[in-house]
Amino acid sequence: MTIAIIGAGIAGAACAARLTRQGHQIVVFDKGRSAGGRMSSKRTEQGYLDLGAQYFTARSEAFQAQCHQWLQAGTISRWNGSLAVFDDSGLHPSPDDTERYIGQPAMQAPVVQLLGNISLHCNCPVDQLQFDGNHWQLFSKGIALGSFSQLVLAIPQQQARQLLQPFLPQSPKLATLFAATALLPCWAVNIQLEQPLLPYDAIFVKNHPLSWLARQAAKPGRCRAEHWLLHFSPAFSAQHLEASIDVIVEQAVIALQHISGQPIKAVTTLCHRWRYAQQAPQYPVSGAVYLPALALGLAGDWLNGGRVENAWLSGVQLAQELVL
Ligand SMILES: Cc1cc2nc3c(=O)[nH]c(=O)nc-3n(C[C@H](O)[C@H](O)[C@H](O)COP(=O)(O)OP(=O)(O)OC[C@H]3O[C@@H](n4cnc5c(N)ncnc54)[C@H](O)[C@@H]3O)c2cc1C
Repeated sequence: MTIAIIGAGIAGAACAARLTRQGHQIVVFDKGRSAGGRMSSKRTEQGYLDLGAQYFTARSEAFQAQCHQWLQAGTISRWNGSLAVFDDSGLHPSPDDTERYIGQPAMQAPVVQLLGNISLHCNCPVDQLQFDGNHWQLFSKGIALGSFSQLVLAIPQQQARQLLQPFLPQSPKLATLFAATALLPCWAVNIQLEQPLLPYDAIFVKNHPLSWLARQAAKPGRCRAEHWLLHFSPAFSAQHLEASIDVIVEQAVIALQHISGQPIKAVTTLCHRWRYAQQAPQYPVSGAVYLPALALGLAGDWLNGGRVENAWLSGVQLAQELVL
């Protein structure tokens, strides 16, 4: 079976790796410059910066086993940051015993490992699909990408809905799936400072425009200079989705001053808008979806409760359902 997978994030990569092991021919397409999706660290002259996923945990036995393999191979490392919480009562330490992992040397390393030698086409946004009842034809900017007996979409909900719009009348299940709201946005701002700021490596922020702060240098493999990454909350990010970068950076500096209680002088700043970042808490969880009549599968964090682990589990589940 020749199977096309759209999306080289952790869900698409996990699905591709399983299907390849089962002897199928897999071709993966991604619109990004490289594999990783929301798990990508940004490469800068000073080193890698994590702007998207910050770390991942492993609660299921299956993902714990996968993480164990990655740890042994050096694909990931443990991240034992000193954690704090900023809430209505101020800033206070909040240590816990959760095992947290990060990719090495960059967050996307596990995705790259899973894809191995699988045929991967980056810079390739799939923008049109045709299905003749037996085969899927994929197109990018009018160019045909090939014919496939099965199609997997491992992309955020809103992007999958847009691509599958012409097929919704044929599948009430798809229409229902897409009716709920899914991934919420997140503005990310990285601020380089001259001086060390706070005696913590990361801060969970509550009841505030920010939701998370992390010191990049506290993570093995990342930029050594004093860089702080700030994530704005879903509510703030949605409200300011179309704001200019200048406005968002200004808000980030104000927020960092508020939390640290110190004046901030930014040496450099970097801003990234994640339009589809994290799953809405109330979204129904189905793991993955396979529609045999359409020879179509869907995987991704948005179908399985959000987070890296759940995206991986979703990709693995879809691979099992596809070959039954
Ligand atoms: C700011 C932020 C912070 C996060 N923090 C954490 C965290 O701390 N811990 C945690 O566990 N999770 C975190 N997450 C969530 C985690 O990153 C995701 O759950 C996981 O990476 C999703 O993987 P995925 O494969 O489902 O989707 P993605 O990683 O989004 O992969 C989808 C891929 O599809 C590609 N694509 C989309 N449309 C097309 C198209 N038409 N044609 C071709 N390619 C296409 C994209 O380029 C992308 O590479 C965070 C996410 C964000 C954005």
